[in-house]
Amino acid sequence: MINLYGQELSKLEQLMVGEGQKKYRATQLYTWIYEKKATSFDEMSDISLKFRQVLKEKYCLDLPSISCLQKSEDGTIKLLVQMKDGMQVETVLMRYNYGLAACVSSQVGCNIGCSFCSSGLLGKKRNLEPEEMVGQVLVLNNLLQKEGQGQKVTHVVVMGTGEPFDNYDNVLDFVRIINNQKGLSIGARHITISTSGLVEGIKRYAREGLQTNLAISLHAANNETRNKLMKINKAYPLEILMEAVREYEQISGRRVTYEYLLIQGVNDSIEDAKELVQLIKGTKGYVNLIPYNETNLNEYKRSSNNRVHAFLDYLTKAHVTSTIRKEFGSDIDAACGQLKAKADKKYEEE
Ligand code: SAH
Ligand code: SF4
Repeated sequence: MINLYGQELSKLEQLMVGEGQKKYRATQLYTWIYEKKATSFDEMSDISLKFRQVLKEKYCLDLPSISCLQKSEDGTIKLLVQMKDGMQVETVLMRYNYGLAACVSSQVGCNIGCSFCSSGLLGKKRNLEPEEMVGQVLVLNNLLQKEGQGQKVTHVVVMGTGEPFDNYDNVLDFVRIINNQKGLSIGARHITISTSGLVEGIKRYAREGLQTNLAISLHAANNETRNKLMKINKAYPLEILMEAVREYEQISGRRVTYEYLLIQGVNDSIEDAKELVQLIKGTKGYVNLIPYNETNLNEYKRSSNNRVHAFLDYLTKAHVTSTIRKEFGSDIDAACGQLKAKADKKYEEE
């Protein structure tokens, strides 16, 4: 069965042509599933009964199911969604004053194995298909529809579990589907992909002609510290990564966001801030400081508020645009990965 939610428009056009249909059939299907929110082929009244039958036999409109839902006081919704094969990933809805952002997972587990991240603990189980990423957004939209305030997801960040550039083609299809005006019509500037720094991916992404945002998980401004936090730095050390960032800026005309986790005593000194300023000098990117979400899976501690603010002040005085990431749902399982870790633990115990 081919899942319609996973078909980028031009691919669906090809499929329709293969079925002996006109190309516009694809747009018609997009309108039914994304605009009119049809959940079955029977509803598609302007498609002949005969072709609806073909669709029913070969295509499906399956969505992931929700296996765990947590809602926090600030309205954040954290979901554990389950795919057809039983694999589970996390999806989070964050409510900003400018809109509703879905934090989407791109893989089941992750192979990059950053020492501070719980997503990488069990390694990568598999890549997610485009329909499984689109499905995460649709499941959230369905929940929002039930809330009845006419709200839907307006922003998407690919910052859940997984390294998006280790699942490049599927993530790109996902971006094109949600960005398509006949699809979910989420503006390119409202879509952000976060990468741990896979250089080939960054260079390729620069050439896609997309106006989306790219975030680089930097977390350290010297190779010694970054090697300890992110072993991927041994394959792509900072010099190589920064060269790719400069190339990305030049080719795409977009600036990046540098994500910088603040971990007590590891990367949060003024000396570190100084190195960060030096490292990104000459690029247009800005810095998003992330107070570390502690987990009981490692020893890392969150930097104190004083240190976070001292770090921010240093960057600001050095004319580097910086912000501290707003935190969501701190009253429920805090870090991305924790819900999943809990489920995995349960799974292992069973
Ligand atoms: N693999 C991609 C995208 C998913 S991780 C990447 O690494 O960029 C999304 C972001 O969450 C990354 O910046 C990651 O470093 C951060 N992160 C991981 N564990 C965290 C934790 N415990 N607390 C705060 N941020 C964390
Ligand atoms: Fe993977 Fe990103 Fe976690 Fe690193 S921080 S292990 S790349 S999900």
